Amino acid sequence: MGYQSPVQGWLAGDESFFSLCSRIHRASGHRRSDVTCSMLFGHLQLGRQHDFPARLGYFAYVTEGRFGDALQLLLRTLFPYFLAWKPRAVAEELMPRICDDVGGDAWRFRIRTAICGFASDHALKLCPDCVAEERRRFGVSYWKLPHQYPGVWVCSVHGRLLWIQRRVRERAGGLSWALPTLETAVPVGQNINEADLAALADFSAFCVEAMSRPQLSAELRVQEIRLAIDTLRLSPEWRPRKRLEDAGRAYVAHVAPFRLAPDMRALPSESRLATTWLWTMRFGAWQRLHPLILLSVAHWLRAGRDECADG
Ligand SMILES: [Zn+2]
Repeated sequence: MGYQSPVQGWLAGDESFFSLCSRIHRASGHRRSDVTCSMLFGHLQLGRQHDFPARLGYFAYVTEGRFGDALQLLLRTLFPYFLAWKPRAVAEELMPRICDDVGGDAWRFRIRTAICGFASDHALKLCPDCVAEERRRFGVSYWKLPHQYPGVWVCSVHGRLLWIQRRVRERAGGLSWALPTLETAVPVGQNINEADLAALADFSAFCVEAMSRPQLSAELRVQEIRLAIDTLRLSPEWRPRKRLEDAGRAYVAHVAPFRLAPDMRALPSESRLATTWLWTMRFGAWQRLHPLILLSVAHWLRAGRDECADG
């Protein structure tokens, strides 16, 4: 007997994989999350991680591919956000391993994302206005993948700060499936001023745009960053190191509003660390840096270019 899905398909093109599974859980009427987990992933725990779920291949098999194959499902998780910065060959080798994984690779992947002081935990985020609209439209709200990207804190449709939803632990100890609900969500940065909100909104849009073409291999993007650093309009008579120090100070000022967001507090507040990162990037070791560093540097350089064009 084939698998009978209680949900018809994706609610929207930007729905996350975790959202789909949470809707299946709700529609199936299971009280416990581990029952749904066993059904979808053949395991009591794996698959429930909203950012890096394991066993996507198993899910695609039991659902008979009606929501896509494992690699298509992977595109609706946070894996591509991090994989995009790996050399193509490495990413291509990792993806099938993550899809078939029984836990190890997805788990190791999480550990490796904790670099440069950035946490490996990723908040589940929602926009209260989107939640209200979706309830009216679909009768249920869903998780939007772009809202889950690290660095994204402002809804592009409603221009308001995203809220964080805490995931509930069930009695059995595992995390529950969850759909967005304001009752268990907490607002972020309520006293933020207009200029900082605008800066966060611009960076949010930048991150989403970067992820709309993750195949545009990071190598290209990093090449672009390195070229841009080389051509910074900073006192050309100075030695490169001195120029980078100056650039570091400008970068610190640029990311100051970003540091108001919970997942970006590791961005530098002083120029020495910033200079070290720019130096690392300039000389090719960018793979040791967190994607938020690369994205924020690219965003800062773009702002500089725009200024240059306006002037
Ligand atoms: Zn919204």
